[in-house]
Amino acid sequence: MENINELKTILSIPRNIVITTHRNPDGDAIGSSLGLYHFLNEFGHTVRIIVPSEFPEFLNWLPHSDRILVYDIDPNEPEELLQRADIIFCLDYNSLERVDKMGEIIAPLKCTKVLIDHHLYPENFADFVLSDITASSTSELIYDFVVELGEEKIIDTTIGECLFTGILTDTGSFKYATSSKLFYLAGKLLALGVDDAKLQDLIFNSLSEKNLRLLGHVLHNRMEILDEYETGIITLTKEDYEDFDIQRGDTEGLVNYLLKLKNIKVAVFIHEQPKITKISLRSKGDFSVEEIARDHFKGGGHRNASGGFSYIGLRPTVKKFKSILPEYKAAIVHSKS
Ligand code: 5GP
Ligand code: MN
Repeated sequence: MENINELKTILSIPRNIVITTHRNPDGDAIGSSLGLYHFLNEFGHTVRIIVPSEFPEFLNWLPHSDRILVYDIDPNEPEELLQRADIIFCLDYNSLERVDKMGEIIAPLKCTKVLIDHHLYPENFADFVLSDITASSTSELIYDFVVELGEEKIIDTTIGECLFTGILTDTGSFKYATSSKLFYLAGKLLALGVDDAKLQDLIFNSLSEKNLRLLGHVLHNRMEILDEYETGIITLTKEDYEDFDIQRGDTEGLVNYLLKLKNIKVAVFIHEQPKITKISLRSKGDFSVEEIARDHFKGGGHRNASGGFSYIGLRPTVKKFKSILPEYKAAIVHSKS
């Protein structure tokens, strides 16, 4: 981070700090936010985390996750806290558009803004920026940030568990976006007492019967393989949502099953949410799905994992996706996986 010393000076007296992260927060969003929260608390700051919308239940065991405020549920306290904040941290997002209405509140505020993120094309809205698109996760960058502040000694098992959670979920258990630096960091977290087997269990082996039946249904009835484009599509209808009582977080990770197919390079998951149709895109190797998300679905993300949305409903969104595929066919087929 450039001008880190200036930020150190700002942090040298107790501050009112708000940590924010993107809508539909995932393991990295919540893990990095709570990791930073515990770290800043140790420093004597007053810290709150505000998220735009609810986070999945499988993250409920994380220490102090019950103190996280959800803007969607009650905007009053979040608005007050944002207005009063000396510093706002923006974690795991590259544009204020990713935090919905909170973005409109944050944009004009005069307080210090700090962006820590690993998405492509970060927008220029913060005073301090730690952006590294080669990082596995924002949680990895929180560790780097603490090291840059010269405070690595403060990182304890609790902070380590939060950060390890973000690393596990964003890398799919060390399958994607890994590096020798990340494995070295993971080793340091284990040395601090982080129990990796316990965390794997809490995060990945906590499905309900309903979740596993949904997976079976989706793979059997809702999967379409387009061999010509080495692309797989999974869809979920509104009826599926009712039949399987699908809640936020229940569809997490479904898209990745398509990548298990040998001849698939692009995986797509399209499903209806109350106000939008959401599209999740994944790829293997050097074909980037980020451009498709950005150019056609108002979104973005990373080379191998991006997302976006439309307002046109499920079937038209599937149709739209299929209609743009020919444009990308050569790039997909010739990409190295
Ligand atoms: P997911 O498909 O799991 O929702 O998201 C995959 C990646 O794409 C994440 O890094 C996420 O931040 C990004 N992403 C998902 N939805 C959107 C969106 O609507 N807009 C942007 N800019 N990025 C998104
Ligand atoms: Mn992330």
